[in-house]
Amino acid sequence: MTHRAVVTGGTRGIGAAISVALKQAGHSVLANYAGNDEAAKAFSDETGIATAKWDVGDYDACAKGLADAANQLGGPVDIVINNAGITRDGMFHKMTPEAWNDVIRVDLTSLFNMTRPVIDGMREGGFGRIINISSINGQKGQMGQVNYSAAKAGVIGFTKALAQETARKGITVNCVAPGYIDTDMVAAVPQNVLDQIIAGIPVNRLGKASEIGAAVVFLCSDDAGFITGATLSANGGQYMCG
Ligand code: NDP
Repeated sequence: MTHRAVVTGGTRGIGAAISVALKQAGHSVLANYAGNDEAAKAFSDETGIATAKWDVGDYDACAKGLADAANQLGGPVDIVINNAGITRDGMFHKMTPEAWNDVIRVDLTSLFNMTRPVIDGMREGGFGRIINISSINGQKGQMGQVNYSAAKAGVIGFTKALAQETARKGITVNCVAPGYIDTDMVAAVPQNVLDQIIAGIPVNRLGKASEIGAAVVFLCSDDAGFITGATLSANGGQYMCG
């Protein structure tokens, strides 16, 4: 069956690949973004996917964005991909309250903001797919990313708890935890650090955004109805956890 999907941060990087993959799977898709109008327009022109700007850290903006999306997509949103994320890296002893709060707000509080407004509709409809993009660094922790690691570990806890609450209503809640993927976020990492990272990845390369898109499409499918509360690691073997 095809559904109505909203992908946060869906105009660039991993989110763009997820938006495209969901569209190719037959779903109606709206891609949200924060402020880069130029990238959003280029994405929409290239893919034909509708875009809408709002801040996923703002509850009221999310509620309005999701209501508008339902109108635009022709019915209640029954797939939410919580992909938008930021980094504000730095060693903890130098980390500012702003760097902490910004990351928790965009990478973790956004899951509440984007899921709470649609959960009643999913429960009433007896179907829902919520996919949260965590990170390898939420699974293993990463020096210089206490804020990001905490937020991304929180994403996994959110997923497991909500999965238990919604399982009987036909709603599955899962995580994909990417390793290092070839996007703008990783392009910001200095080349010497990146070379060291790649040396530690058994498949010996960065991941492709399309590989995350394919994983998300599977988790959204009817065939994945028995999978809930799971975290799918997509990291080239860099970190293996049960
Ligand atoms: P990018 O930086 O390439 O893209 C981020 C996207 O999120 C953009 O579309 C951006 O919008 C949007 N965004 C940022 N802040 C907000 C906000 N407050 N409200 C709405 N949208 C927002 O990120 P990636 O594609 O690299 O990462 C996507 C997700 O995957 C993130 O959650 C990241 O933590 C996670 N991840 C990434 C990895 C990687 O190697 N790249 C590894 C593991 C996890 P705009 O274009 O307007 O700025």
